[in-house]
Amino acid sequence: MPTEFARDDVHDDIVYPSAIPFVLVHLACFGAIWSGVTWPAVILCVALYWIRIFAIGAGYHRLFSHRAYTTSRTFRFILAILAQSTAQKSVLWWAAKHRHHHLHSDTELDVHSPRHTGFLYSHVGWIFAKRHDLFDEAAVADLMRYPELRWLHKYQLVPAVVLAGLCFLIAGWSGLFVGFFWSTVLVYHATFCINSLAHVRGRKRYVTGDDSRNNWLLAVFTMGEGWHNNHHAFQSSVRQGFRWWEIDPTFYILKALSWMGVVWDMRSPPEQVLRNEQRLGAHRSSTARPSSSRRISMPKALPTPSPRRCTPPS
Ligand SMILES: [Zn+2]
Ligand SMILES: [Zn+2]
Repeated sequence: MPTEFARDDVHDDIVYPSAIPFVLVHLACFGAIWSGVTWPAVILCVALYWIRIFAIGAGYHRLFSHRAYTTSRTFRFILAILAQSTAQKSVLWWAAKHRHHHLHSDTELDVHSPRHTGFLYSHVGWIFAKRHDLFDEAAVADLMRYPELRWLHKYQLVPAVVLAGLCFLIAGWSGLFVGFFWSTVLVYHATFCINSLAHVRGRKRYVTGDDSRNNWLLAVFTMGEGWHNNHHAFQSSVRQGFRWWEIDPTFYILKALSWMGVVWDMRSPPEQVLRNEQRLGAHRSSTARPSSSRRISMPKALPTPSPRRCTPPS
């Protein structure tokens, strides 16, 4: 068993000092009591929430973690900067942890499984665990090749700090507290709900061998990421709402971008998967290794993770 992910002390290694900046971001929201809430700041907050929830879904998740479509290096860098302005650590860290989640979903090795570690730890606690400061370079070897992504990893807070400064310049203190901090906290918890709530509440259309659920309310607030059982059933699909009524604005925007030639090679599940005629997996014991069906839609060139090769973020 890889020692990095051993579960012998799962709740004991939270490094509380590393949670302090996260707590301060939440406390900064109360700065609005002093600054007031202006209309330009509210508009900034709403715009930055939706733009950045799109960047998380289309960038961190569907592009960098799953390679569900292809785009230019320039647009990929723009998505990386926008997603990293959410202060959810670097592209490399996020994609490595997420690929690990899919390989071990809801087993004892999963980095965030409500079944094994409880709701709160899967929602937010795991991020501050000492073992998760590290990420597996081999799991994201396809991304490590790009110096701009390694640079973003090295200076991972730069996009967030620059955006906070811009919010202040545009709308003053209210722009900073409401425009930046409120939207950042909302994006945090909308994203984290996919790790926690989307493995607890909702419907299971596919037998995926894990606890992933389709949750329409989460899909609304995350621009389509709430169709999480669909996603676990066919991970490399650019589309996560498989039925016409399963709202997936991230997919609609990517589709529109494909008409403009900004993105291409968008991957879709086979028709029999969309109709749920193809059995994709079976329930496994909580400690079982990933089944072959689990890997059915992982990115084709995804290297085998090697937990021994880890790099601490700077
Ligand atoms: Zn999941
Ligand atoms: Zn995923």
